[in-house]
Amino acid sequence: MKNSMEIKIKADLKNVSTIRLAVSTFISNLNVTVDEIVDIKTAVSEAVTNAIEHGYEESNEDNYVLVNVNLENDEDEIVEILVTDFGVGIEDVSLAMTPEYTTKPEDEHAGMGFTIMESFMDEVLVESDNQSGTKIKLIKKLKRKHS
Ligand code: ATP
Ligand code: MG
Repeated sequence: MKNSMEIKIKADLKNVSTIRLAVSTFISNLNVTVDEIVDIKTAVSEAVTNAIEHGYEESNEDNYVLVNVNLENDEDEIVEILVTDFGVGIEDVSLAMTPEYTTKPEDEHAGMGFTIMESFMDEVLVESDNQSGTKIKLIKKLKRKHS
């Protein structure tokens, strides 16, 4: 069975924990391990935090983030998550994805968000347009646990 969920939420850091919880609840019915849920929650948190902190540099009441979760239930279970903002965009995506690269070192950013996403997910794809926003696609192929 295919299944999907979309969350449209105000771009506010206090909503990151809500998204973590919603995504883990949504995938918890799958044949998923606790470790896999933690990996997915962590990657989603990094992507959503980036959307809020970097996408929307100037905070505005109307700014929002979209989180889509798509489940494919074929031979292998695939969790696909899209995190979309409509902010400033990323000028140089491959530079932004370099470990320890950050444009905000003064705010205690380590530049490790993309590196964390890449280590916890099977695929991290970035589409970004100057001044119109960024879409991060996170893909994880679940290893079926034996029940
Ligand atoms: P950390 O995640 O360790 O707190 P960071 O957020 O700076 O630090 P990354 O998450 O790896 O590190 O992101 C690297 C850089 O990519 C950011 O500093 C920012 O310049 C840019 N970036 C990431 N996501 C977005 C986004 N949604 N919109 C605009 N710029 C972004
Ligand atoms: Mg980050």
